[in-house]
Amino acid sequence: MPGNLTLEGLRAAVDRDEIDTVLVAAVDMQGRLMGKRFHARHFADHGWHETHCCNYLLAVDMEMTPVPGYASANWQRGYGDYAVRPDLATLRRIPWAPGAALVLADLVDHHSGEEVAISPRAILKRQVARARAMGFEPMMATELEFYIFDNSYESLRGGIAGLVPVSGYNEDYHLFQTAKEEGLMRAVRNGLWGAGIPVENTKGEADAGQHEINIRYSDALDTADGHAIVKHAVKEIAWSQGRSVTFMAKYDHRRAGSSAHVHQSLWAGGQPAFLAPGEGHGMSPTMQHFLAGQLAHAREIAAFLAPYVNSYKRFTVGMFAPTKAVWSSDNRTAGFRVVGEGTRGIRVECRIPGADINPYLCLAALLAAGLAGIEARLPLEPEAKGDNYHADGVREIPRSLREAADLLAGSAMLRSAFGSDVVDHYVHAARWEVAEMDRVVTDFELARGFERA
Ligand code: ADP
Repeated sequence: MPGNLTLEGLRAAVDRDEIDTVLVAAVDMQGRLMGKRFHARHFADHGWHETHCCNYLLAVDMEMTPVPGYASANWQRGYGDYAVRPDLATLRRIPWAPGAALVLADLVDHHSGEEVAISPRAILKRQVARARAMGFEPMMATELEFYIFDNSYESLRGGIAGLVPVSGYNEDYHLFQTAKEEGLMRAVRNGLWGAGIPVENTKGEADAGQHEINIRYSDALDTADGHAIVKHAVKEIAWSQGRSVTFMAKYDHRRAGSSAHVHQSLWAGGQPAFLAPGEGHGMSPTMQHFLAGQLAHAREIAAFLAPYVNSYKRFTVGMFAPTKAVWSSDNRTAGFRVVGEGTRGIRVECRIPGADINPYLCLAALLAAGLAGIEARLPLEPEAKGDNYHADGVREIPRSLREAADLLAGSAMLRSAFGSDVVDHYVHAARWEVAEMDRVVTDFELARGFERA
């Protein structure tokens, strides 16, 4: 379900004094909502056409540092503007922000009128268009995990120390512990529902303070839009209640990581193109090729599934995160699972992505790999059985962002699917992250070496 408000509906709500503010949000490389707050009257009269932003928004890191070396935006080119074009199909009320509506926007080159090729939303749209040209509608869902803390973001400004998880124990599936967190999670579920985002459920997850939220699957673009809005909403609602949340893939090496498993299926003419009851595991040849493509290219696309240095710390043995890019039916030690066997809901669950993904880039990369598998009619390798953590000689998930960036740079598949300029841009982003982590002295190094080195 996309947005729940038309421009006419917005105008009527403004007339009734129900809405006075419209957030116009583009999505940056980190998957964050970046934009401006419009007076709703101005948006309804004029602003809905277009606004502008500095093109450095797709050339900064998490800290908003203008990163040198990007072709798209740099000091030589003077950091010009992108046009920001609201996608009115995403216009919605956001009940957690009184009097406000939200619309997602596309970034457009105002000389050519084309969507900016490196913008995450454009990258995903292009892969969806490719799937549609092949006769398929990609349907996806992300299962987003995060941690909740009693500390406010403001109280952590001096340094992230003394974190108090909202729960004192592993709260996986616990209904009693999560009852104590309903002040936040009920507001999240109902706020998102009111924003047109169909929440299936929330649940306690496998460590103290960890939660998961499930949204009903939808077409790939709507799923990525929903994912970006869910993250924003959870942070904003937690903040308004004096709490903090984190979507880092691994905020503490002693705790479980936070993932964003991606469920994927292709549909054709309203029917599941992955279902074939007579075949092995009930998988149609289309599904087998799709999964084979994702396996074959898993290492090249890893930088989009695990985009930070920290992301790779989640891939540890025995903590439910995968370490091997193999497939299995109903086995949580594999990077890919076939789920919903024998039903119309048969699908591929990719367990590699962490909660820190940019959902547009992750979904686009998975889709590109799967479609490449269908185009090449790649045969599916045998299922990996048993404990894949300790299996030898099988395809590994890259161990570091450094390795993943090199694999991405060498990916002919992604260069063909996304365009070489897009791949080069994100290789540069990944290498910048690595260089920053190489450069900075961490608390861990100080604690280890200060006295004893
Ligand atoms: P789990 O066993 O992991 O709890 P769920 O039944 O909760 O699985 O489903 C996980 C996610 O998969 C949900 O967000 C759901 O909407 C989504 N999903 C269900 N069917 C499909 C499908 N055919 N394609 C993609 N996603 C789907």
